[in-house]
Amino acid sequence: MNYLPLAALMLGLLSLPVKAADWFDEFRASASPAQLYQFLHAMPKGGDLHNHLSGSGLPEWWYRLATDQQLNGGYQYYTKTRINNCRAPGGDMFGFAPYLLLFRTIQESSYARLPACEKAEFQKLESLTREQKTDWMNSLALDKAHEGRDEFFQTHWQRLADLTGNPHIMAELLYLNMQDFSKEGLIYLETMEGTRFYQTPDGQPIEPDAVADIFRLRLQQPDAIATGVTVRMQYYLLRFIADAEQDLEWIYHFVDRNRDLYTGINMVGREDNDKGYPLRFLPVLRKLRRDIPGIPLAIHAGEVDEPNQHVRDTLLLGAERIGHGVNLISDPDTMLLMRNNQNLVEINLISNMKLNYVNQFKEHPFPEYLRFGIPVTLSTDDRGMWLSNMTDEYFVAVSEFNLSWAEIRLLLSQSIEHAFVEAPVKAALRDTLNKRLNAFERNFRAQGISGLPQATPMANGFICQHYGFCSQ
Ligand SMILES: [Zn+2]
Repeated sequence: MNYLPLAALMLGLLSLPVKAADWFDEFRASASPAQLYQFLHAMPKGGDLHNHLSGSGLPEWWYRLATDQQLNGGYQYYTKTRINNCRAPGGDMFGFAPYLLLFRTIQESSYARLPACEKAEFQKLESLTREQKTDWMNSLALDKAHEGRDEFFQTHWQRLADLTGNPHIMAELLYLNMQDFSKEGLIYLETMEGTRFYQTPDGQPIEPDAVADIFRLRLQQPDAIATGVTVRMQYYLLRFIADAEQDLEWIYHFVDRNRDLYTGINMVGREDNDKGYPLRFLPVLRKLRRDIPGIPLAIHAGEVDEPNQHVRDTLLLGAERIGHGVNLISDPDTMLLMRNNQNLVEINLISNMKLNYVNQFKEHPFPEYLRFGIPVTLSTDDRGMWLSNMTDEYFVAVSEFNLSWAEIRLLLSQSIEHAFVEAPVKAALRDTLNKRLNAFERNFRAQGISGLPQATPMANGFICQHYGFCSQ
């Protein structure tokens, strides 16, 4: 038996790590939810590193863009508002959407190709009654208790349909995100979106290079620059499709030719579809890396219920960042590998709850990763569909896991340190974030909550629904 630690403790040589309560602990302990929200909204933030552009649009944004032909490049949209039993429920002349799906929105050229019976099921989007418009917007939000993973994966994207094939809508959506994020203090956004499968109003395909130019042009507009949000994009690969390897080759070459805009590649798609398992892509990535200078990879992994070693396998693919990593907690070897190391886990608390990867926040492994020493940050994933923002993610994290100010600052700084942006830009972002945080901390300690602007959660948004704490 070794008595040394006890003896040392008695002599005062060892002491338990006790952290003195600081100004933030005192504030958090006494703050109402409204005051905590106000603080976290005003708090300067770094970047959103895990953001799907097509999942980041709030329903009212989609409606506005789809019905404003000035903003959307002159496209006219129709949405399905009734079922006339024109054909059998399965299958679809355009591919993947089930026939029995209301509020599927298509552009005029798709509508023109429908047989008369099906045409009668659709109406122009701007002709919806007030009640129909509300229903249309609700159909794009995952806001009901019974809606979960299947509703999200199998109907939301299928309803958006042709809207996601309009590059002007997607570019405007990017701008609206920049504007909205800048209001809550973000300075960087790395969003996932591709440049293929876009079409003109008359249904002709648009060249990927032309789509990239539409994004570039939008980012150069004065109103976009005025947001102060730096944007880079990741090209996404739908991992479970039959020819995903060839797709990855095409994407890798495209990103290589467009490195000013695209700084990374991601792999997306539900992970409970085994066709997209990580090691499937190892041979093709090794082949690509033989000839092309490296492209950073941020890859979804561990967003599943079952324990497996997909996070480890994804690191072997060369991923610098792991999206979600919920099941990493069940893989001790990989946790040890990632401890005090370079690979970041992009944590999406609200997404994981909405899609039932955790049943309650107390089950989430995030605090263990954070306090065990695995680099983590918070991100928004498909915020348009959960009706949330970055403040909401911090509100959940601080409320549920009692974060200290040092932990919050670590999360914020990791969102810049692990960004796929050129080193000089990263250095400038780091400098901006630190200066803003120092000033924010100084002002708050001098003036308290009364020195901060009012801010309330989104009406009917996640925070309102989950915590019953809503905007007045
Ligand atoms: Zn995601």
